Amino acid sequence: MTTAPEAISRLAELIRENQPCVVLTGAGVSTESGIPDFRSPSGIWAQFDPREYATLGAFRREPEKVWRFYAPRFAMLTEAEPNAAHVALAELERRGLVRAIVTQNIDELHQRAGSSDVIEVHGSIRTSSCPGCGSVYPLAEVVPLIEAHGAPPCPACGEILKPDVVFFDELLPEDAIMRAVALAENPALLLVVGSSLEVYPVADMPRSTIAAGGKVAVVNRDPTWADGRAELVVRESAGEVLAAVVAALEPPVEVVDYDPEWPRRYEAEVARVRTALGEVIAAEHIGSTAVPGLAAKPVIDISVGLARAEVSPGQVAAMEELGYEYLGENGLPGRLFFRKDVNGRRAYHVHAVEHEGDRWHRHRALRDYLLAHPEEAAAYAAEKRRVGAETAGMSNYWEQKQPYVDALFPRAWRWYGRG
Ligand code: NAD
Repeated sequence: MTTAPEAISRLAELIRENQPCVVLTGAGVSTESGIPDFRSPSGIWAQFDPREYATLGAFRREPEKVWRFYAPRFAMLTEAEPNAAHVALAELERRGLVRAIVTQNIDELHQRAGSSDVIEVHGSIRTSSCPGCGSVYPLAEVVPLIEAHGAPPCPACGEILKPDVVFFDELLPEDAIMRAVALAENPALLLVVGSSLEVYPVADMPRSTIAAGGKVAVVNRDPTWADGRAELVVRESAGEVLAAVVAALEPPVEVVDYDPEWPRRYEAEVARVRTALGEVIAAEHIGSTAVPGLAAKPVIDISVGLARAEVSPGQVAAMEELGYEYLGENGLPGRLFFRKDVNGRRAYHVHAVEHEGDRWHRHRALRDYLLAHPEEAAAYAAEKRRVGAETAGMSNYWEQKQPYVDALFPRAWRWYGRG
């Protein structure tokens, strides 16, 4: 067993060297979203015996009793939000490092976090079906029925609906299990996250991967049968471990000397952006690439002034045509953010703001202040180089650089006549 931070860099290395990996998740990936698992001491088994509630036999005998167990869980599952572990796995898929997720969970949190290839081997709460007439109802229609009746009756025939989750004594969905088996036999790396590996046949996936010559890594708080055969075992919080792995896998931050090509790159790109957005009142080259002599990440920042900080679906689509990803406000109210990567590296950022609004002037203030104060620009460049050399990924870079910018900005704002 290894513990962080060596474990983080080892796991990052395994994922980098064996991409794309396949991920197997269980209830432990969702406990940080507030959903109890089965086998932890505070888990569901401590209060209920699922064999008494989550079986087809029990459902046939006493569907009301089974729904007394499921109704509060449905409410909890629909209200829960994806946690850092789900978000990290979705990001790894986006970067091409994860091929697919096989999950034993029924909570849909992987999909809600943005993972697109998710194989649900135990079904999901997405739908419930009528054992009588075969009608299928989406969650949004079932929730009000649960609220009104406890055990939801079929609106068509009155029989009590069954959630489309796999009960203990039911067969697993054939397509899903075949896909899971095929994936298990294929990857160079199977990453197990938050599963006790006690529910078969999925619990056998690590055996298939190892038999086919692949490696297994386990991120799980408690021991599993596969630990002794795994390349790496991390017995810590899935959210913390996976978020740290994502940061460790980010490309290093590159701070380079001022390049006279940057203004030309700005001119060419801003012309395309103006055409895509259509209603641009004014545009400006902002950020460090706009200050001759200043070292910077080679990302061209374009400030675009619109009548209001709003973009239509048509404008977003036109920007996507240009290769931009739209990230909304992305943590900065009043600013709409587009990002474009070239050859896998961040290359252009477009900040769409209200023309002559506060955001518009803040960007200009900092740029113009640095243009007018070469000694401040030189000190800022030195700080950027220091932080760039010391941090692994972009998120850490921002975090570390921010205090310096927060201290610098009021001077710029005063000089600009606004502070
Ligand atoms: P499990 O309850 O048997 O095991 C969960 C494992 O996750 C435990 O070994 C625990 O140590 C570990 N764990 C818990 N929180 C963790 C965290 N934050 N970080 C790292 N590890 C953590 O779960 P299982 O293997 O998935 O099997 C149980 C069955 O229960 C599955 O069939 C699943 O369908 C069902 N289930 C699903 C949900 C859900 O959809 N969220 C919740 C409970 C149970």
